[in-house]
Amino acid sequence: MIKINYHFLISLIIITLFFADINLSQTQTKNNNDKVIELDKCGFPIDDSNEILYLSPEYMGYSYDSLLADLELWRMSEYVKIDSIGLSVQGRPLWQLTISDDPNNLEGKRTIHIHARTHPQETEGFYVTDEMIKILLSESEFAQTARANCVFYIIPMFNPDGVVLGYPRKNANNVDLESNWNTFPHQPEVAALKAQFTQLMASPNPIEVMLNMHSSSLCARYFVYHHENGTSSNYAQLEQGFINGVRSYFPGGIEPYTYFVSWASGTALQYPESWFWVNHGESVMALTYEDMYQCSQTGKFDSTANAILHGVMDYMGISVVPVELYSFTAQAHDQKIILKWTTATELNNNGFEIQRRFAESDFATIGFVRGKGTTTNKTEYSYIDKDLTDGKYYYRLKQIDFNGTYEYSSLIEVDVRSLDNYTLEQNYPNPFNPSTIISFTIPNVTLSASSLAESRDEGSRVQLRVYDILGNEVVTLVDEYKSAGMYNVEFTMHNLASGIYFYKLQAGDYVESRKMVLLK
Ligand SMILES: [Zn+2]
Repeated sequence: MIKINYHFLISLIIITLFFADINLSQTQTKNNNDKVIELDKCGFPIDDSNEILYLSPEYMGYSYDSLLADLELWRMSEYVKIDSIGLSVQGRPLWQLTISDDPNNLEGKRTIHIHARTHPQETEGFYVTDEMIKILLSESEFAQTARANCVFYIIPMFNPDGVVLGYPRKNANNVDLESNWNTFPHQPEVAALKAQFTQLMASPNPIEVMLNMHSSSLCARYFVYHHENGTSSNYAQLEQGFINGVRSYFPGGIEPYTYFVSWASGTALQYPESWFWVNHGESVMALTYEDMYQCSQTGKFDSTANAILHGVMDYMGISVVPVELYSFTAQAHDQKIILKWTTATELNNNGFEIQRRFAESDFATIGFVRGKGTTTNKTEYSYIDKDLTDGKYYYRLKQIDFNGTYEYSSLIEVDVRSLDNYTLEQNYPNPFNPSTIISFTIPNVTLSASSLAESRDEGSRVQLRVYDILGNEVVTLVDEYKSAGMYNVEFTMHNLASGIYFYKLQAGDYVESRKMVLLK
């Protein structure tokens, strides 16, 4: 349940009226009385004298206590080091995560800096940041590549006092930290972050990309694009390349660079991005990102985070394994074999050649399935190989990029034979690291009068589960009705320790388990 502050509701309705006829590339709009309301880059009025100055902290979502709890969780990862860059007005640490494959040895790593929650009410900017942290701490190929090449400094809550006090836009001294980057004396939060930026820029691995995470009442996801009048034509092109790159991973989700244009009449000096532009010019891609502030389409933080991180890596020229194959399975059924595979992400994927080997022959291409090109969505594919004689078949996929480069999947073995009994085969390879294949057979069901009611066309309900040595379930690989056939399930254990595991097949009255060894 979310308690909505009554005063806030009133203010929200008024703002909605103001925004009804907004020109999206402008920072100004008109209300019903033709009075001009000037909006900041987050879509909120610059003159906030009519705005409410307090929101119930629970209305703003993710609290300071939630951050403290998450810091304990993040601290458990070997890829994270946590410390503070300084203190807020009220003495709260400004926590910063350092993420890299070895956060205590950053030699040669390329640097990205991300900070969120300058405006406490703009929690969505944090939720995207949180998803970026999840991606960076995962064991995906992408995360491994990113950590091997880069260090990510992430400040999830730059204005903790504002979050605790329920100030929608300001710190404990009632100052908007976002737009007072060039006001002296500095607020302690601004002074700390500026010192951090200065120190990193003077290091052997200066910041190359700086992201300032917000969310906008304009109900759109966008980067604040800095016009060449306030930067340079070369920098404007770099910005366009960066923003277009991010958008290619989330088509339709993030607005084009033309959506919100600022600095058309020169560099406005009050923002963190201005500090980077004035001091370091084209060497740093310093941008504000705006997520959707509490509107009907708010969400998809994971897709957004994925797009931004892939865009950052592309911008920095760090190549990541283009197509992540998530699973590849085969099922034999009535002298035919059904191959199914799934990709987690795809980049420039032309498609898959299906290659088969039978008996002593070499691999031959028997078909082609077109890929999705570039997508961050999970995609499922299948291919049916028909009219097979009994025997053992081997399959692999040759994934081919548009530029001709290719990569083979792991091999899968399928037995075409008459199906009389349930079987659960020993996994292969075994021991394994990190992938192995488990095969089992579901026989043709012989119908009798008594079992007719249960033996429907769906076949048997089959459950295949993996347990650790203490009997704790690790994962359910299969839990569905399956028709007669021989099945192969590829299984990858990225996050588990070396040791003995068991897999158990349950289908009707049939129960069988076997042992396997993960050796890292
Ligand atoms: Zn903001």
